[in-house]
Amino acid sequence: MITKPNFNFSFNPNKCDECGGKCCIGSSGYVWVNSEEILNISNTLDITVNKLKIDYLKKYGSKYSIKEVKTKNNYECIFFDSGRCNIYESRPVQCKSFPFWNDFKDKDEDELDYLKDECIGVDFKS
Ligand code: SF4
Ligand code: SF4
Repeated sequence: MITKPNFNFSFNPNKCDECGGKCCIGSSGYVWVNSEEILNISNTLDITVNKLKIDYLKKYGSKYSIKEVKTKNNYECIFFDSGRCNIYESRPVQCKSFPFWNDFKDKDEDELDYLKDECIGVDFKS
């Protein structure tokens, strides 16, 4: 179990296989990538940064987010494939740090119902 200061829950990463990647699908959102992460992902995919930006990223002002794909009932990250992340080793910090996001700091269990529903690795008891 992973714990972090100022978070009222622990996280069990062993649950990720069972879950199948619910944090990579769902309602539309943003997965922000900075310039270092963009370079890392382009290296992982063995494509140029320019091609990565055109094919896989969407620009919002001066920032880039990973594109989503619309499915029947949901959206999913363009790198999500058959329950796995295609760029796992170079996935951005936003993905690596989930569920320990600043928005979830110092929040009680009843304030994070939706997080418990989304992530079966989150545990408020231990
Ligand atoms: S939702 Fe939680 S348990 Fe599921 S893959 Fe994401 S981090 Fe792992
Ligand atoms: S980059 Fe990988 S871990 Fe992050 S949302 Fe996309 S598929 Fe999931």
